[in-house]
Formats: sequence, C-alpha cells, structure tokens
Amino acid sequence: MNNLNRRRFIQVCGVGVALAALPYSLQAATGARVVVLGGGFAGATAAKYLRLFGHDLNVTLVDPAAAHVSCVGSNLVLTGESALAELTNPLSVLRDRYGVELLADSAVRVDPSTNTVHLASGASLEYEHVILAPGIDFDAVQGHDFQAMPHAWIAGEQTLLLRDQLLAMPAGGTFVIAIPNTPFRAHTAPYERATVVADFFRRERPGSKILILDANPGIAGMRRTFTTAFEGVYRDIVEYVPNVTVNAADALNMRLDISRDGLADSVTAEVINLIPAQKAGKLAFDSGLVPDGSRFAPVNPLNYASTLVPAANVHVLGDSQSTGQAKSGHMANAQAKVCVDAILRDLAGLEPDPAPKTTAAAFPPITRKTASWTTVTYSFDPVTMTMVSTSSAEAPEPTDDVREEEGPGWLRNLQRDSFA
Ligand SMILES: Cc1cc2nc3c(=O)[nH]c(=O)nc-3n(C[C@H](O)[C@H](O)[C@H](O)COP(=O)(O)OP(=O)(O)OC[C@H]3O[C@@H](n4cnc5c(N)ncnc54)[C@H](O)[C@@H]3O)c2cc1C
Repeated sequence: MNNLNRRRFIQVCGVGVALAALPYSLQAATGARVVVLGGGFAGATAAKYLRLFGHDLNVTLVDPAAAHVSCVGSNLVLTGESALAELTNPLSVLRDRYGVELLADSAVRVDPSTNTVHLASGASLEYEHVILAPGIDFDAVQGHDFQAMPHAWIAGEQTLLLRDQLLAMPAGGTFVIAIPNTPFRAHTAPYERATVVADFFRRERPGSKILILDANPGIAGMRRTFTTAFEGVYRDIVEYVPNVTVNAADALNMRLDISRDGLADSVTAEVINLIPAQKAGKLAFDSGLVPDGSRFAPVNPLNYASTLVPAANVHVLGDSQSTGQAKSGHMANAQAKVCVDAILRDLAGLEPDPAPKTTAAAFPPITRKTASWTTVTYSFDPVTMTMVSTSSAEAPEPTDDVREEEGPGWLRNLQRDSFA
C-alpha cells in the first residue's frame, strides 16, 4: 500500500465499511427494540449506527460506565506523553445526538429462550435483537495483585497505576512486561508498550532496562518492525525472551515465578506489567454463548449471530467473539457496522450482505519522533464461511509523518466514528 492509498484507507476506514448499499428503507417503521450490552468500540458503534440508519428503532445501551476510556492510544499515557482525558468518551453523546437510551447497569445474563436480558439491578429488558459487546475477561494468575502488578489492558485506573509506577521508578531499574499466549486483545500493543517506555527510559531514566517475557514463540504482531526496534535502536534497553510461562506472582517481593523450556526460574523487577491470558467477557460465558473448553464466542461473520443459538437474534461483537479476526478497536468498529446492517436487513425481511469486509489498523510509536503502521482487510469466504485476511502491509521504516499526523488522525477518527 503506498502513502496515498494508506491515507485514503485512514480516511475511509472509520466509516461505511458495510453500510454503503443500504437496501432497506431508512423509514422502515419497525419500532423494534435492540439492546446493546457494553459501550466500548463495538457496542457504542453499533448503538450509534442502529439509530442513524434505523430511525424508528428503540436502541438501549447498557454499560455501568458513564464514559468509555479507549485502550487505543493508552500506551502513550504511561509515559506522560498523552492524558486519559484525550481517550475518554462520554456515552451521553450517543443519547443526546442519536437518541440512544442509556442504562447505567451491568448485564448479568441473556436468556435467548425468552428474549430477555437480566441486569445487575434486578431489572430486565426484552429485545428483538441483542448485541453482546463486553470486551475481555482475564485468566487468574496465582498471587496476581492487580494493584501491585497492573495489567493496564483495560484503560482507566489500571493505566494510571502503571503510569505512576513507571514515573516513580528510579534510573537503573528494571521494568518487566509479561505477555500471554495469543489470542489476546491487540497483538501489537504489548510490543508498542515496550518501544514507548524504552524511548522514555532513554531520555529520562538512563540505565533502566525492559525485560519482555513472552508466552509466545515469537513476537505476535508486526514482528519485523519490533524485532528491528529491539535489536537496533533499543538493543541496550530491551531484552526479549520468548516461550516464557508465568506460573505465579509474588506482589510483596515483586517477583514472578516463571518457566521456560521446562526449567523453573524467577525474576524480580521494580515495576511489573503482568498481562494475563484473555477470554470473552463473563457475560458471554454466563449467557451460554461460549462452548465448553473454548475462550471466545463463535458467531456467523455475516451477522455476528451466535452459532450456539442461531435463531435467537443474539449477536456477539468485538473482543468477545471468535472469528479469528484481529481483536482491535478498529475491528470492533467495523464488525459493529456489519452487524447493524444485518439487523436492519433482518427487520426488513432481507438476508444479510453475502460479502462483508472488515478492516483493522495500528500505528505504533517506535520513538518520540517516529511511528510505524499496519493495516489488514478481511473478506468473507463463502466456501469456508470464515473471514479471510486479504491484505496486510507493514511499513519498512517508521516515519515522522506517521507519528505526527497519520497515527493521531486515525485515532481521532476512530474515536469520533465510534463515540461521537
Ligand atoms: C494498550 C492497548 C493498545 C491498543 N491499541 C490498539 C490499536 O492501536 N488499534 C486498535 O484497533 N486496537 C487497539 N487496542 C485494542 C482495543 O482497545 C480493543 O480491541 C477494543 O477496545 C475492543 O472493543 P470491545 O468493544 O470489544 O471491548 P471494550 O472496548 O473493552 O468495551 C467493552 C465495554 O463493555 C462494558 N461491559 C463489560 N461487561 C459488561 C456487562 N456485563 N454489562 C454491560 N456492559 C459491560 C465495559 O464497561 C466496556 O465499556 C489496544 C488495546 C490495548 C490494551
């Protein structure tokens, strides 16, 4: 992809992935109720576009939070280069601008047999279609204290905890990033975290080191870009170790018990960022949408309907579903549009679009002045009934314009398209 095409991709990727054709009447007076559970990149986008294109729909968005804090861009908060305020998106905008009904509550279970959502408050909601977009949940690591060793993998308080620990770290200290097995949210983001913090250490904490303990056999996203960074510009700061399992954490002594190639060992550090293995949000499990032995919810990529209850109008979006597409904010936004389109078609008595496409992107900063980028497009394959990746590109060299203009512009567009 050349620069011009990349810019065009950035401009269009936030809008209209699946909504270009609009075969249904915009005035279709269904009065139907669609309930959206979770107001992150997937759920907020779905609620907004349901109301934009389905004027007479009753759309209720349930989330305990009044605002969504974007994980995308949050690594720059860790070093003080950015602030959480730039990543905080009040959900009230969706109510005031689009007429989405907001409910500050948590969903505890969806019952497809009665088309009912049960809420933590004790109330319940009935629906014609329901969308579950609860993000991720974590596997437990023995002894893991989230306060002492923040994961910072859901943005907000966790991000600030890790930021404060890094800012308080003395020069010459060690920062450990422990990365879980794939699939996890944002395959490039833990390595991006390492480059962002390494750049900060070089400028403000000389002599400090980063030890990356990766459960995977190699770098899970943008391997060439990050290998070049770790072995090049940051070779005196970053040590990358693959195939490491974290068995237990000891918060009192800031120690991880690990094993590598069957050999037990331990590491201590001044700051430890322990990112646990990930699975679908608890709501998806509690609603019976994740098969035994699986970690994410299987869905039909034509409409994101659960394949476990196919006739029940229960859709799962974003990081909780298991189509094998990137687990990313950009992807969650794209899936939401495919799902909205399919729901509107269903309410108009039509079949879903038989050839949906989705996209994902990341623009990881490599130094204070440069950033790299990657994009990927998925198309539906009717033979395998899966989304197949049809393009992937990686910049050979990080550049200034990606760091200063294209990356920030893309993040602004993505947040605006999802939440404003
Ligand atoms: C450090 C980092 C960097 C990243 N960088 C990028 C990037 O460069 N590009 C990119 O595209 N993606 C990136 N991501 C990934 C991106 O943040 C996620 O993939 C995205 O947030 C997934 O969207 P989602 O809607 O599935 O979940 P979320 O955005 O997590 O939203 C889930 C929502 O559901 C709500 N919820 C949970 N349970 C319930 C319940 N029971 N009832 C009601 N509401 C509930 C939560 O409050 C939350 O608002 C990054 C992630 C991290 C951690």
